[in-house]
Amino acid sequence: MIRPIVKYPDPILQQPTEPVTEFNDELRTLVDDMFESMYAARGIGLAAPQIGVSKRLTVIDLSFNENPDDKLVLINPEITHREGRQYEEEGCLSLPDIREKVVRAKNVTVRAQDINGEWFERDGDELLARAFQHEIDHLDGVLFIYRISMLKRDLVLRRIRKLQRTGDW
Ligand SMILES: [Zn+2]
Repeated sequence: MIRPIVKYPDPILQQPTEPVTEFNDELRTLVDDMFESMYAARGIGLAAPQIGVSKRLTVIDLSFNENPDDKLVLINPEITHREGRQYEEEGCLSLPDIREKVVRAKNVTVRAQDINGEWFERDGDELLARAFQHEIDHLDGVLFIYRISMLKRDLVLRRIRKLQRTGDW
């Protein structure tokens, strides 16, 4: 089922999520819905709070559903290692049409549980590393516009307020 994407400034996007403790059919349905909603919105990553569920899980697929090996489900993920630096443009389904450059680690290692509750580790670099950091930030209630300069953030927030006034947000 495609669920609507929650947009900034909804408070659910700005609060830490609860750990996932039950690995059951309900979780499977949630994960399926997250992939479906992400593909429908043409995203490469989606965190549970973005469909209004304050739980610590995210899905990522850099291939837009082209390559099954790229489908990643990260449950209760943590970044265990960061290395290097990259400075690239990011966007977010919860902040449509806003794109800003964000400093991120270039290589990261993530430790997470899979849909069955099994722990695994996964390395990512470049775009995948950025997706890991962006999505795990969501699970901590952090949006990418919190990671840009105050000056740029003020401009973004002013733009959003303007769009809100004209009913375009
Ligand atoms: Zn996002």
